[in-house]
This record gives sequence, structure tokens and C-alpha cells, in this order.
Amino acid sequence: MAAYKAPLRDIRFLLNNVFDAGELFASMPDTTEITDDLIAAIVEAAGKIAEGLLAPINSSGDAEACHFESGTVTTPKGFKEAYKAFADGGWPSLTGDVNYGGQGMPKMLSAVIEEMLFAANSSFALYTILNTGATLTLSQHGSDELKQRYLPQMYSGKYSGTMCLTEPHAGTDLGMIKTKAETQADGSYLLSGTKIFITAGEHDLTENIIHLVLAKLPDAPPGPRGISLFLVPKFLVDESGTLTAERNTVVCGSIEHKMGIKASATCVMNFDSAVGYLVGEENQGLSHMFTMMNYERLSMGLQGNGLADSSYQLAAAYAKERMQGRAATGALQPRLNADPIIVHPDVRRMLLTMRANILAGRALSLYAASQLDISRFHPIEASRKKAEQLVALLIPVQKAYCTDRGFEACVLGQQVLGGHGYVTEWGLEQNVRDARIAQIYEGANGVQALDLMGRKTVRSNGELLDILSGEMDEFVASQKDVEAMHPYLAAFEKCRGRLEEATSSVLASSSDDANAVGAASYSYMELMGLVLYCFMWQRILSAALADQKSGSNDTDYTDALVKTGEFFLQRLLPRTESLLVEITSGAESLMAMRAEQF
Ligand SMILES: Cc1cc2nc3c(=O)[nH]c(=O)nc-3n(C[C@H](O)[C@H](O)[C@H](O)COP(=O)(O)OP(=O)(O)OC[C@H]3O[C@@H](n4cnc5c(N)ncnc54)[C@H](O)[C@@H]3O)c2cc1C
Repeated sequence: MAAYKAPLRDIRFLLNNVFDAGELFASMPDTTEITDDLIAAIVEAAGKIAEGLLAPINSSGDAEACHFESGTVTTPKGFKEAYKAFADGGWPSLTGDVNYGGQGMPKMLSAVIEEMLFAANSSFALYTILNTGATLTLSQHGSDELKQRYLPQMYSGKYSGTMCLTEPHAGTDLGMIKTKAETQADGSYLLSGTKIFITAGEHDLTENIIHLVLAKLPDAPPGPRGISLFLVPKFLVDESGTLTAERNTVVCGSIEHKMGIKASATCVMNFDSAVGYLVGEENQGLSHMFTMMNYERLSMGLQGNGLADSSYQLAAAYAKERMQGRAATGALQPRLNADPIIVHPDVRRMLLTMRANILAGRALSLYAASQLDISRFHPIEASRKKAEQLVALLIPVQKAYCTDRGFEACVLGQQVLGGHGYVTEWGLEQNVRDARIAQIYEGANGVQALDLMGRKTVRSNGELLDILSGEMDEFVASQKDVEAMHPYLAAFEKCRGRLEEATSSVLASSSDDANAVGAASYSYMELMGLVLYCFMWQRILSAALADQKSGSNDTDYTDALVKTGEFFLQRLLPRTESLLVEITSGAESLMAMRAEQF
């Protein structure tokens, strides 16, 4: 089996040539010290962790899985040592708040690192991602006292964090949660209820586990407006910040047996008058969670992309070695009985589909991450506001489209290996299983599509889309004198026209037909995904051509980029046409059958 290799060349090209990350960081006071050299050193070090520390315990972790016994969870062999090494390297504090022991690094940097962690070992990556999400929520909404007490330990890797939202009867519709919080005289709360599917709810990697829990106060208004956020530690921590031996009454009831990410503990968590502390304001729990959700959803897209890349690497290596059949143009290796399968157009279709979507998905993730960074660090308020609006539009597409394309890439990689992709030995089968969940958690992809079409497009009356269009116009204008870009730009304009037509059609029908938005939403998300991937390819192609023109000595690399981009434009982008037909066909055929007819 080919070992996972961190895609450092691609990352360098995207950060330096496509997004000019160094210049962006130099323009914002809190990130000026993050130079190209520092970025390169950190990315390279993270690549070594992914390749050397996490990839070697990926398939063994899958085979062994987590074990549950009497409320405790044991992670597979090697996970505890790897987590310690990860923490000792300072990785949990990378993007953290500098006032509490974090390093304050931008999301663009952590995005490429997360992708590598997910590619090498998705189960392991989840323990780290959940901790990052919990620290982010706490640092944005917690009181100074809570932050002092918990953040330094969560950044150091001594404690880890969870997000406890889901309940047996409340998944997408969190307004229905039943977990209750009762006020205590000392200002703390007692929480009671059951949460399910809680990633890293219990494990043996850290001294303490800090749960961020959604619950309802007794006098809370019904539905989503009556939800508050609480911090509930596994072991209580005293006022001086010292860990006590006193166990809080939150216990793991069981862990799930599931399709993939088997070394990630997915826990039922029972809260039985467990001591908790309010985070932020009463009844604002959902909106507090939403600040973190943009980051978490971005991470799920990165899981899809990471596993796609790991699958691509395995499949490309295999296709160059596996000898079956002859090239249609005549034997390539006449002294052998067959040619390598990479000579066959259909095998190339699969590999190029994977590669074209991985590069665009990584670029889209970086584009969204750059907007998160601008919204956090930029000194000008108008720039921060515009970036926030772009984030709101981009994230549901990045989450849903990258995870769908990620799963598809894992299946394509499996197909390239034929029967060898189906058996355990080569690792493709695990990637397929591990990638599937990213389409479901952090809001199922259908719900992301609804968010994009409903809240972000129809309800904003296309305002967010206009901001994105402005960015695209600016790019197109910057390329008008680059002749080699003209055919690429023509394809881009054509697909943008289709998106505009689709948007107008749904905006027009949404007032007459209550089902119009829901009926169009998934196809609309896919159309938007393709248009955004095309935008990313325009930027990659432009940077590749500029690099060639500058006399760079790595023309083989940029030549492959240009060829992959042309494949995307010719073979993948045309689907925008059929998506437009789907979107404009309305809701009738979807809603025609009565429920009993299914
Ligand atoms: C391995 C794993 C780890 C997880 N980790 C965590 C965690 O750490 N913390 C946590 O709180 N939760 C976690 N979850 C829960 C996860 O986020 C939910 O499963 C997910 O949000 C979907 O909720 P549900 O399963 O209840 O599905 P449902 O909400 O029942 O949805 C079922 C289907 O109906 C569709 N649907 C639902 N409502 C609508 C609507 N209004 N319009 C259109 N379609 C709709 C959905 O798209 C989906 O296809 C995890 C789940 C798993 C399996």
C-alpha cells in the first residue's frame, strides 16, 4: 500500500501563487508576523505528523476500534501516545486566543493542516477538531473566569472538548431538545438529560473532558429561541483552576457501533444533575454555537477533501503499476503481457475527476478560510462585514459539495483498484467508510443545501450572491488582457449565467409555491458548487500560466495543473446545464405522490 504523502507542493502553490497568503497576513496587524517562511515551516512540520505519527495507526485503529466498559472508553493502541506527541508539539493551541495560551494563527493555515490530519487518520483528527471547536466557542462567548479556568488546559492538550447538541428525538431540529438546566444559588446550574452521537464524549486521551452542552432553562421560551449553552466538565475544576478528583455526574452510557471512523468514540452521554456553567447569555445558545459552526463545517469539508486525496494517491500509484489490457493505440510495453491500467481512458476519467475536484475543493476551503480570517483579523470594519457575508454563503456549499465530492472520490479510487479496492488490505475500503459520515454530521448535506437556498439566497433576496458576484467580476476584469485565459473565462461566464438564471427562477417561484425552495435546494447547491469550483480553477489556471510566464523551472507541475483544469472545464462543468433544467422544473414531480404511495 502506498504511504500517505502530505500534498506540500499543492499547498505551497495555493497559499503562495493563488491566494498570496503572505501578503494577506502582512496587511492585518495581528498576523503581520506570519511570513511565507513561517507558514512553510509549520505546514511541513504538520505534514510530518500526518505522515509519520497518524497514518501508521490509521488502519490498526480501524481494525481495533474504541472499546467501552463500565462507562469508560479505551482508544485503540497508539492513540494515547500519538495524542500526547500532538499536544507536546503545541498543535491544539495553533489558532487559539493568545490571551489564554493560544498561538493566534489564522484559519488558512489550520485548514491545510486539518485536511492532512483527516487524510492520514480521520478518527484521530476528530478528537483534535472537536477540541478546537469547543475552545473557539468558549473563547468567543465564555466569561473571563471560565476562559482562565479551562482554555489554557484545552490548548495544552491536558483537557479536550466536545459539542453536545444532538438528542434521540432532536437532530436537525434542535429546537426540540429536552435537556434541562436548573439554576443554583451559587450561580452554577444542574443539567439533566441525554445526548447522543457525541464525538469524543468519553476517552482515555486527556485528564479531563469539557462538554459544551445545549440545554433549556425552566422559564425558557419554546423552540430554538429558548436554548442556552453550558460548560460541563467531566472532573470538577476548583476556583484556582486546579483539577479535583471529584467526578461530575455526566457519564458515558455506551458507544455506537458504526460504519466508519471506528477509532473515534461516538458516545451516549447521560447528564444526571451534572454541575454546569452558563456560557454567554441565557437563551442565546444556538446563536453562540453558530459562530463555531462555520469553522466546524469547514472542517467537515476538509475531511471529505483529505480522504479524497488519500484515495487519489493510492489509486494513482496503483494505476501506474497494475498491468491489465493493452492501450487502444497499441502496446506500450510490448515485452510484457499487458500495459499499466493508466493507459485506459476510463481509468484516467476516474483519476482526473478525483484530482480536479480535490484541487478545487482545497482551493475553495482556503478561500472560505481566508474570509474567516478577514472577518476575524481585518482592521477595517467594512472588510470584516463583507467577509462575514461571504462566509455565510460559502460555508454550506463548501461543507456539502466537498463532502459529496470527497465520498465520490473515495468510491472512484476504490473502483480504480477493482476487487483490490473492495478488500481491506489497500485502505480504499476504509476511506469509503470513513468519508461517508462527513455528508451527514454537522448538519446533513440536504440541510446545508436548504440553508444556502432558503436563508442565504431567497431570504437575503440575492444580496450575498451579489457580493460573491462582485468578487468574480473583479477577478474576470483582472484577466481581460491575458489571452490564454480567454477560453477558460468564456466557460466560466457561461456557468455563471446558468447560476443567475437558476437564482432568478427560484426567487420568482418561491412566493407562489411553498415547496419551491426545498425542491430546488440540492440541485442549486450542486450548481453553486460547480460554479465555485470553476471560479477556483480560473484562479489556479491564471496562477499556473503566470508562473510559467515568469520562467519558473517547475513547468511540469504547472503543465499538469493546466491539463487538469482543462479536464474540469470540458468534462465536469457541463453538468451545470442539466442542473439548471432540474432547478427550473419546479416541485410538482417531487410532491405528486401521496406518502402512502412510497
Ligand atoms: C458518527 C457521528 C458523530 C456525531 N457527532 C456529533 C457530536 O459530536 N455532537 C452532536 O451534537 N451531534 C453529533 N452527531 C449528530 C449529527 O450531527 C446528526 O446526526 C445530524 O445533524 C443529523 O441529525 P439526525 O441524525 O437526527 O437526522 P434527522 O434530523 O432526523 O434528518 C434525517 C434526514 O432528514 C433530512 N431533514 C431533516 N430535516 C429536514 C428539513 N427541515 N428539510 C429537509 N430535509 C430535512 C436530513 O437532511 C436527513 O437526510 C454525530 C452523528 C454521528 C453519526
